[in-house]
Amino acid sequence: MAHMALEMSESLEERCNRILRDMEGSLTARDRVGIQDFVLLDAYTSESAVLDNLRKRFNENLIYTYIGTLLVSVNPYKELGIYTKKQMDIYMGVNFFELPPHIYALADNVYRTMLTETNNHFILISGESGAGKTEASKKILQFYAVSCPSTKLLDNVRDRLLLSNPVLEAFGNAKTLKNDNSSRFGKYMDIQFDHMGGAVGGHILSYLLEKSRVVHQNHGERSFHIFYQLVEGGEEDLLRWLGLERNCQRYSYLVQVGEGECAKVSSVNDKSDWKTVRKALSVIEFSESNIESLFAIIASVLHLGNAMFVADSQGYATLNNSPEIHWLSKLLGIPAQVIQVLSPFTVDQAVYAKDALAKAIYGRTFTWLVNELNESLANKDSSRKTVIGLLDIYGFEVFSVNSFEQFCINYCNEKLQQLFIQLTLKSEQEEYEMEGIEWESVPYFNNKIICDLVEEKFKGIISVLDEECLRPGEATDMTFLEKLEEKMGGHPHFVTHKLADQKTRKTLERGDFRLLHYAGEVTYCVVGFLDKNNDLLYRNIKEVMRQSKNAIVKHCFPSTEPDSKKRPETVATQFKSSLVGLTEILMSKEPWYVRCMKPNEGKQPGLFDDVLVRHQVKYLGLMEHLRVRRAGFAYRRRYEIFLQRYKPLCPDTWPNWKGTAAEGVECLIKHLGYKPDEYKMGRTKIFIRHPRTLFATEDAFEVC
Ligand code: ADP
Ligand code: MG
Repeated sequence: MAHMALEMSESLEERCNRILRDMEGSLTARDRVGIQDFVLLDAYTSESAVLDNLRKRFNENLIYTYIGTLLVSVNPYKELGIYTKKQMDIYMGVNFFELPPHIYALADNVYRTMLTETNNHFILISGESGAGKTEASKKILQFYAVSCPSTKLLDNVRDRLLLSNPVLEAFGNAKTLKNDNSSRFGKYMDIQFDHMGGAVGGHILSYLLEKSRVVHQNHGERSFHIFYQLVEGGEEDLLRWLGLERNCQRYSYLVQVGEGECAKVSSVNDKSDWKTVRKALSVIEFSESNIESLFAIIASVLHLGNAMFVADSQGYATLNNSPEIHWLSKLLGIPAQVIQVLSPFTVDQAVYAKDALAKAIYGRTFTWLVNELNESLANKDSSRKTVIGLLDIYGFEVFSVNSFEQFCINYCNEKLQQLFIQLTLKSEQEEYEMEGIEWESVPYFNNKIICDLVEEKFKGIISVLDEECLRPGEATDMTFLEKLEEKMGGHPHFVTHKLADQKTRKTLERGDFRLLHYAGEVTYCVVGFLDKNNDLLYRNIKEVMRQSKNAIVKHCFPSTEPDSKKRPETVATQFKSSLVGLTEILMSKEPWYVRCMKPNEGKQPGLFDDVLVRHQVKYLGLMEHLRVRRAGFAYRRRYEIFLQRYKPLCPDTWPNWKGTAAEGVECLIKHLGYKPDEYKMGRTKIFIRHPRTLFATEDAFEVC
């Protein structure tokens, strides 16, 4: 091996130059298609230059660009034909910078790093709603499914991994104004690999499903896909058994108040999606009885929505003679009399309780579904595995009216931005310091101040909200807002109607507060905050559900559930803890990033809105990231790892080096002819300035 390496006809220098030439193409081509890695070009340090480059590439259907190993992606809103098996083959096992940027290149690089370094990784996919995160995560999963070594047993795992997606999307995605297939839950998925690189299992964690969507959608939006799929695509006898008509307009939970019509969505085919989901459920080996129970639940939610209450002579709500009682009783396996006597409520309370029940049943069923998928994806073999985690979570969202759900979603995005900052900008600079590398620091906006505003113990918005939730009967959404104004009024990122003019020069309604998020300002309407945060379900309703003969419902309402004497955690607090858990999971792994961007607000192909993209370039921190990357060193490796991998390239280090790893590396790179300004030796690692240097070394390694 070493012998062959010494005989390489092309010197490292020549090799570097050739690669550079290949990479950047001729000048004219470069003018046309821009530069594929922002780090490589000297002129590309201003925001306008970055924007120009992105636009140029976008216009040539080149949606991907690197900043070092970070992948920037701009949603093309059209099929580009770049996700074929042939493309996968091209990118498989090829060095990162040898081919045009691609999500497959990133996926492949993560995979190979995991195999050579036997450690865990994760890919953080971020960007606002509709920017292409979910598509990116699917492409990565598909790449692994196709490119990993396969056996009959592994094929089965692969199919399940792939098919978990349509199932989860059916139950957890919906059309919103931003995205026809918007994820309404957060998803973190570990793909587990054995030491040969075969995908042997997976595990999914889901975060805060927006279950309020089950009973209410905003103008132009829809409920979760599964409802329409069932009604549009369900087989005749299934619908008959469920008591459903093939007409979405019949179900008040699917028809928006005041419009009398379901929202239409042309880009989604509910009928064929139904077939996919049905098939997926079988491949994932859901039992027929579980599948039946599952659809019985979906149907019962629709029946529940149609249940109309009338006041009896004493003013109590009753459901007398309603056909819905019959279907609910049948599908949920609860005696009709029990359903009938669920009151004593007034009609308003009864409607409220009904909606709460619909949300609870749906939300808990979703959790059950994720658990079942995990059973099916679980790897039974206990040998050591490495994982690649994929994080695809709802993106930053601003609607004309923003509620508790947007508050949680945007808070989550703040946390992920904070993680990104900690892992890249901050840790990068700290690492230089720790390793004793000279370094001029790059200033950046740290959004910790906004995270604190939301989540700080005793002081943050969630704390104030929880406090108000502890005063039933007294507290209201408005008292919550007043407390916020009192406590947060002076905070630079919090605006109330009193201060609106001074801080953002825009007025604010009385019932609103505004947060100046890292990604932009969002005005939240406080109506419903207390209720949604409490998420209470009347105790007697829980007891009734407990008696259900529907296996899933029974499972979702266990008798061991902590009773109402102990106050359950509020929704926001639970969410906050789950995000802490997620951060811990991620911090223990090596990070990779995909930053997704929206080219325009209209889901239009070929339209590049400069203002919109510039805004995203700004808040995604791309400029800072680029500056840190450019000023610093694109690559670093621990001495041991670097030496272990490349020692065959030098006769003095091969096969065994007697001195320290650092000395070995020094000897190795002298032999390879690294120029002094190309690298720096830190305390424990070698730092390499340009990707091309490492790449050329890697190339040489492959030749030998
Ligand atoms: P997000 O998860 O960020 O909210 P999605 O991944 O669901 O956004 O993307 C929204 C829509 O944009 C998709 O349904 C698809 O129509 C389109 N899209 C996203 N990424 C791509 C891509 N790489 N190629 C073609 N179309 C895409
Ligand atoms: Mg999504």
